[in-house]
Order: sequence, then C-alpha cells, then structure tokens
Amino acid sequence: MTRDRKPQGFFYLNHMCVDGENNIITGVHPTSAAINDAVPFLEIIKKQQEKFNVKYVGADAGYYTAPIAKGLEKLNIQGSIARRLGPKPKGIMSKLNFNYIEEFDLYVCPENHHLTYKTTTRQGYKEYIGCKEVCKNCPRKDKCLTGNDARIIRRHVWQESLTKIDRFKEKTKLGKNIYKRRKETIERAFADLKELHGFRYARFRGLEKMKEQCLMTAAAYNMKKIAKLIA
Ligand code: SF4
Repeated sequence: MTRDRKPQGFFYLNHMCVDGENNIITGVHPTSAAINDAVPFLEIIKKQQEKFNVKYVGADAGYYTAPIAKGLEKLNIQGSIARRLGPKPKGIMSKLNFNYIEEFDLYVCPENHHLTYKTTTRQGYKEYIGCKEVCKNCPRKDKCLTGNDARIIRRHVWQESLTKIDRFKEKTKLGKNIYKRRKETIERAFADLKELHGFRYARFRGLEKMKEQCLMTAAAYNMKKIAKLIA
C-alpha cells in the first residue's frame, strides 16, 4: 500500500457494505491494499443487489468516478456520493467556476467567453478549449491558465450520470440524509471492527484465508448487533 496519510507496506483492504437502517454488515470483500477502493465497488454492489432490494447507496468521495456513476445508473440504483474534483494547482479556478451549456455542448467561463469542444481522450474525457487570443488578454488569466495558451476543461462522456448523483446528494433531503447516514453506519462499523474485534491486523496470508477472517469478524459483529436489536 502506498497512499497519502497511510502507512506503507503489505496490507489487505476489506471493502465492506452495511445496511442503512440497522448497520448490519451485508457484504465483505477483501483485496490486496494495492487496489483502489473504486475498483471492486460495482462488483460488490451487484452482489448486494442479488441478495437485497438495493435502491440507494451512500459512499464517500473515493467512489466519485464516472464509471461508478454510470454503473449505478445501469443497475437502477441511486447513489449519494461526495463530489470530488480532479487535482488542480493552488489558486487556479476550478471547473465549478465554468457553466456547462448542454444545448450547445460548450462551457462559458467567468469572463463570459466560450470554451468549445475539441477532442475526446482515450480515457473518455471530452476536452473543451478557450480561444488563445481571448485568454492571452484576459484579466483573470493568472487564476485560470496553467501553462497552456488557453483554458482547457475536461468533461467525462458519462458526466451526466455524475451530475445526477450531485443533484440527488446536494439538492434533495433524502440524498443528504443518505450521505449523512454513512458516518453513523459504515464508518462506525469499521471503527468497531478495528477497536473491538481485532481487525487492525491480518491474521492470515492469502485472500481466501483473509476472507475467513473478514466473514467470521463480520458474523461476530452482526450477532452482537442483532442481539441488541431484539433485546
Ligand atoms: S483565461 Fe480564458 S477561459 Fe479563463 S476566464 Fe479568461 S477568457 Fe475565460
């Protein structure tokens, strides 16, 4: 594992799901820690959907990707996921300062100039570019340009799926509540497993054996939870 603010070394990750009502663990999925959290997400959600009637899913900004947004749409599941913008140099205006005009498929910058479509990258990003002559003489160019002669904005071909998630999470009461519930459920479950169930350390080597630890720990956690619920 080599991640910011995390120890470096050999670790496993347990990707986990809980239900939003009672915080019961409904799925565990151990992987090597070298895998990005977003990679197994859709596979895990598909398995959840086979067992449960999943209508909504809340997740943190690590899962804010266009393929996940599109995948959830195909599964007919509404996501409430924290928005994450790509990296940008400090002091430079973000993409949020630009308005996308769907009708004309272009962006309008804070100086009211158009950035028009130029190309689509292999990674699925449509690139919109401003006019060199206009940007060169713009009073905001120091806060807008990053080495190029004109501002470039990238928009994923599945951006609309991400925008639907943004609208749900940021503009609806249900979306806000689902996202807020994360802290009270999955974050709490992870903390309990680590603090109370010895989950800070891998007891085995190999994914199959680690799955046993994940399942047994989740079973113990769930039994305690259910006992409390029916007491
Ligand atoms: S630098 Fe270009 S894109 Fe940026 S605000 Fe000025 S005119 Fe608009």
